[in-house]
Amino acid sequence: MSSDYAISHWPDTKQILADLDTLVGQPMRSIRRNKMELYLDYFEARCPRSKELNSIAREFIPGGAQHNTAFNYPFPLAFSRAEGPYLWDVDGNRYIDFTAAGGPVVLGHAVPAVNEKVFEVLNTCSPSIGLFHEYELKLARLINKHMPSIEMFRMMGSGTEAVMGAIRVARVFTEKLKVIKVGGDYHGWSDQMVYSLHIPGTKDLEAIGIPKDCLNHTQEIFPNDIDALYELMKANEKEGGTAAVIVEPLGPESATRPVIKNFNQKVRDLCDEFEALLIFDEVVTGFRVGLGGAQGYLGVRPDITILGKCIAGGYPAAGGIGGRRDVLSRLAAGIESLKPKAYVGGTLAANVLSCVAGYHAIKEIERTNALVKAGRAGDKLTQGLRGIMERRNLPFIAYNFASICHLQTSAVMLLDITNPNAIMEAGPRKHMLEEMGAAFTAEGIITIAGSRIYTNASDTGQVIDDALERFDRVFSNIE
Ligand code: PMP
Repeated sequence: MSSDYAISHWPDTKQILADLDTLVGQPMRSIRRNKMELYLDYFEARCPRSKELNSIAREFIPGGAQHNTAFNYPFPLAFSRAEGPYLWDVDGNRYIDFTAAGGPVVLGHAVPAVNEKVFEVLNTCSPSIGLFHEYELKLARLINKHMPSIEMFRMMGSGTEAVMGAIRVARVFTEKLKVIKVGGDYHGWSDQMVYSLHIPGTKDLEAIGIPKDCLNHTQEIFPNDIDALYELMKANEKEGGTAAVIVEPLGPESATRPVIKNFNQKVRDLCDEFEALLIFDEVVTGFRVGLGGAQGYLGVRPDITILGKCIAGGYPAAGGIGGRRDVLSRLAAGIESLKPKAYVGGTLAANVLSCVAGYHAIKEIERTNALVKAGRAGDKLTQGLRGIMERRNLPFIAYNFASICHLQTSAVMLLDITNPNAIMEAGPRKHMLEEMGAAFTAEGIITIAGSRIYTNASDTGQVIDDALERFDRVFSNIE
């Protein structure tokens, strides 16, 4: 395996899934009540400005915050400064940031090498011109250099938009109808993809406000169930055919349910057998697990790749559809082909700002071997967390794919919804996770919803050691 890849080893997926099953079958292990009260006191005593801003924001912004990752218990903190591995809230408290802004921040915050190039271009051009700018080409060529399956690249405004466009072009190209996803996968929030979100088998549970017809041709298989995929693709032959199978290559929700290593190759084989397109959603894994993405690491060549997050270096707007020349040339902007085209658009897609930032962020990643550094930080953190949990005899689970780390304490996302007790348990388990996230924050660590952690290249050994001490303090207070 090339040393450019940040995944040092593929975790024992079957063991992890078995351990997660065990965890979800056990009573919850929450933070002791008296200690939790102290953690909540932190927010009252040390975060008054955040609290005030949040209460005003609730009048003007639905829920008081715009990002799903910001809806943290007991209230969303307001941040005003970011640098390297750290964030500062408006009350001046410093935190180790393990959210990476939900994924895009892989070099660390506020990287001078990227910002300077952005400022340089902004001094001579505008952030968007709606016309061709050379940085579009520079970015597309750089992506192609690292991900050869991306023969052509069409920048979009977000991962969600890119998935929409990819599905449309897959249907145009194959002249087939059905799209199969893996239950639990997140592919953005477009109508047809809000299907079995987060938890496999939940179907239209979260498709509120979406006409049922929009979901008629979206189907799911459960993670790792390759036999079910075969059966579905076979059945689809008489129902309009399968246009595409879309997967998160590490497993649903960035490997909250990790897949076995050869799952993707098996999906590839079935796509070939049934002449469907394979779409890799590399919004999170692209330019995070290695310059060649999960596809390079796994040696599986998708027909279409979805990129987002890291490809604009943390700047807006980050999304893109990449893939085979014959497929991508069926997007509306191309005029070479007279064949039917898929309509896509976006006033700010491929704006100058995104392209210059993305190009220089990837150059900086290349220059500093940032993905491997971020991955090693993820390895060290995960090993450290495991050590703490073992020492403290806790049933919690930590595993990672490079800089994508998972810390399962309440395992609410792993509930089996076919089990009627699971519905009863969802509320308390969700609250336990909220408390865990609040406790981490009070100890100076920001995670995504208390369970997902993205490390970045600025997380030095010292930062990780410091984080582990903080996690240990929380774990010393488990019931
Ligand atoms: N696909 C995956 C795998 C994602 O994680 C996300 C965002 N979390 C998306 C698609 C959607 O991207 P965006 O938020 O840019 O619309």
